[in-house]
Amino acid sequence: VPLLVGRDLHKSYGPTAALDGASIHVRAGEIVAVMGPSGSGKSTLLHCAAGIVPPDSGRISYDGRELNAMSDVERSALRRREFGFVFQFGQLVPELTCLENVALPLRLDGVKRREAERRAAGWLDRLEVADIAHQRPGEVSGGQGQRVAVARALVNRPRVLFADEPTGALDSLNGERVMRLLTQAARESDTAVVLVTHETRVAAYSDREVVVRDGRTRDAELVA
Ligand code: ADP
Ligand code: ADP
Repeated sequence: VPLLVGRDLHKSYGPTAALDGASIHVRAGEIVAVMGPSGSGKSTLLHCAAGIVPPDSGRISYDGRELNAMSDVERSALRRREFGFVFQFGQLVPELTCLENVALPLRLDGVKRREAERRAAGWLDRLEVADIAHQRPGEVSGGQGQRVAVARALVNRPRVLFADEPTGALDSLNGERVMRLLTQAARESDTAVVLVTHETRVAAYSDREVVVRDGRTRDAELVA
């Protein structure tokens, strides 16, 4: 049975139907690419599946629990404990060093500074950015910043990583490097990945593709 299932999701913004009957399922450790043209509803599907945006209708279940039935506080706690997020831009705290950024989720979980930074350093090493640990995000390249963001998203070992165009701001060489390290780290940690992209080259790192068109996915997604 899949870890995460979104069924027949509908979501409108005013007159715009961003999702018009979209479904998605992800198994533990599976890497799923959500593909489709710009404006087709990919990001909205990711935000709904992650419990960030409530759908107008449809159901989302994670590990046998209905997200719709949870309170905001419960959903927020679930996201913090079990999910990791990587977006296209600007997710690192500019005032903190790269090491402190990666240690932050652990610090928020009550891990002592020394231990948090030790574990954070291990993740920076794994993402091949150990050398920039003491620099601030504004002082590093886009590709390095994204690898720091991936380290931060994985440091508390989420069961699902949600990545929305994580290589969208990078050239193809850096994009490939981020994808290789992201998928390698996710596989080693048995973390499932929901990856939104419009690039086939990025989707090639996935186990399976879900195509979104005009807010809809194929019926096969529903049958999970
Ligand atoms: P994609 O990720 O495939 O580019 P999105 O999910 O971002 O697609 O958007 C799907 C549709 O919903 C688009 O027409 C977009 O303009 C609209 N949309 C998405 N988010 C919002 C929002 N917060 N407010 C208004 N319209 C939105
Ligand atoms: P809390 O209310 O407990 O602070 P959040 O709403 O910040 O929880 O969500 C928890 C996680 O989801 C955080 O890691 C945060 O980075 C991510 N997140 C939630 N919504 C967004 C968003 N719109 N953009 C970027 N990250 C988000």
